[in-house]
Amino acid sequence: MLTRMTVATRRRETLEEITERVVEVVRASGVRDGVCHVILPHTTAGITVNEAADPAVAADALNYLAELVPREGMWLHAEGNSDAHIKAALVGHSAAIAIENGELVLGTWQGIFVAEFDGPRARTVLVKVMAG
Ligand code: ZN
Repeated sequence: MLTRMTVATRRRETLEEITERVVEVVRASGVRDGVCHVILPHTTAGITVNEAADPAVAADALNYLAELVPREGMWLHAEGNSDAHIKAALVGHSAAIAIENGELVLGTWQGIFVAEFDGPRARTVLVKVMAG
């Protein structure tokens, strides 16, 4: 089963938490034990699993990436969003989360986020729930 969801990001750079939406997909699937893949088919955003309790962590991560990969630079890509492509590559485009007893197995502080680097826009997230 492959589920597509749309996530509206609200700023050029932001982490949008999608944990509860992924939990709903897993519960609806009926899969008791397996793996949940969360995949983002875009080139200027990514998927990350990180701290969801303190929003300062997301802000720190975005600030650090902005410092590491400046928006203005000697970029060749004419679209003007090379920084977003590089940040997305650094973050990665997917995450795999174990499923046990019908629930995602996440650490106490972990949440699943769309990492947006060229928003705001509507992003598609694919959720693939696999038994086994
Ligand atoms: Zn581009």
